[in-house]
Amino acid sequence: MDSHNSRVLFVSSESRPFASTGGLSDVADALPVELNRKGLRVERIMPLFRAVVDGQKKGGYSIHRTPHTLVIPLGMELIPADIYACEHQNTLTYFVGNEEFFDRKELYALPHREYRDNFERFLFFQKAVVALIDGLGRPYDVVHCNDWQCGLIPALLEKGINGTGRDGQEKTLMTIHNLAYQGVAEATKLFLTNLPGNTLDQYPELEFYGKLNQLKAGLVGADRVSTVSPTYAREIETESFGCGLEGVLKGLDTPVKGIVNGVNVEQWNPETDPALPANYTAKALSGKEQCKQALLKEFGLSYHKELPLFVLISRLVSQKGVDLISQAMENMMQLPLQFVLLGSGQEEYQNMVLSWQERWPENFSCFIGYDADLSHRIEAGGDFFLMPSVFEPCGLNQLYSLRYGTLPIVNRVGGLVDTVQDLRLDASHGTGFVMSATSPESLLECVREATSLFHDKKRLRTVRQRGMNQDVSWANCAGEYIELYNSL
Ligand code: ADP
Repeated sequence: MDSHNSRVLFVSSESRPFASTGGLSDVADALPVELNRKGLRVERIMPLFRAVVDGQKKGGYSIHRTPHTLVIPLGMELIPADIYACEHQNTLTYFVGNEEFFDRKELYALPHREYRDNFERFLFFQKAVVALIDGLGRPYDVVHCNDWQCGLIPALLEKGINGTGRDGQEKTLMTIHNLAYQGVAEATKLFLTNLPGNTLDQYPELEFYGKLNQLKAGLVGADRVSTVSPTYAREIETESFGCGLEGVLKGLDTPVKGIVNGVNVEQWNPETDPALPANYTAKALSGKEQCKQALLKEFGLSYHKELPLFVLISRLVSQKGVDLISQAMENMMQLPLQFVLLGSGQEEYQNMVLSWQERWPENFSCFIGYDADLSHRIEAGGDFFLMPSVFEPCGLNQLYSLRYGTLPIVNRVGGLVDTVQDLRLDASHGTGFVMSATSPESLLECVREATSLFHDKKRLRTVRQRGMNQDVSWANCAGEYIELYNSL
């Protein structure tokens, strides 16, 4: 396959600037754009969430209705899918519209529970993807599926949305952005797929402990599987990280390929970032101190030149190591230091974080919510970025932190290992601190080291510059995806 003529459909449940809950949307945003820049012909498709419609003005894009209205079978029901489109950054995106399924406040879940019809919603989406491929009448070479919301696509491409078979030559790549989310549903929902036969025993590739597992279907059904870092690719073949799918992954004909995510270096550039109160570069860092002062003010904390500022931006879920921070918090806050946090997620974690604010009002402050501009100001204003994730497929915040001269403190897992060099192991190449174990003690040890580095201004500056000069752009990793597409 000549990569310059390859036509790729990039299927993802979310993409910036249209709708976003996490790292997948950053990848879905930047990777197709970079691949198009390199000469491929990549188009995207995602659901028409309410956020896509509402975000047009702020996001600087406009969507339009296409002539395609598809009729999608879900079991005995026929449901219409209206197809919208938008050209943004030289990349065409299709949106699958259906008010009942996607015109909702959130993408997947309310704060206390997931939407109960997520299986129906995303099965509908996946069937609409296959129906649109056929409706467009110009075949794609590769359908690039991402996470469980695309897991059934390889099977649907083969068997058709009515289960009556389909002629298609597309190759499929299934990329795992987070193995912990698998799209598991009750076996009784199998009939909604319209696959022939109505018991799961006929479909071992879908079956998972008596239930239907969409991600497993994608892993088994796709021509190739990849994930977002080489270390995570190895980890997920083990019981500790495999989330029950380690056996399936180990049994694949070709091993899972790990490709580290890049950063959208135009959006994340401290030299030009419009969200910042002052811009700066690796050579001229003084604006960073101004960002710190403004950030502390924004969070209601006073500025002390001699106090390091630790920051954290995250979904508040156990994966992100919030429990480790909680266990280390008492000792950490005595060091002394200041700490600013932006996050939202599980209610108990939100409450815990709010209680820290009451306990240490002088030195800790948080904002519970999702705010993209604020996340840029935090990346710029912080001295150190905390990311003690229990597992981390790739992680993006540590990459943004490197770019903004905010030294990352990360756990020794997944993509964090592949992107941050430990200063304690290699003083002349180190870019941050890597915990030696998943424990509050290891985290505390790194925080202590960071505080002492903070007082060695010359060395701090050197390490900051080293991180800022590291190439974290998509240019290299996009090349690896092209090789992978070609290998199909
Ligand atoms: P994950 O995808 O597991 O949530 P990543 O580090 O890969 O973690 O990506 C997280 C992305 O979401 C980053 O772009 C990060 O800045 C953003 N993010 C997470 N929580 C928030 C929040 N509360 N407000 C703004 N941005 C957030």
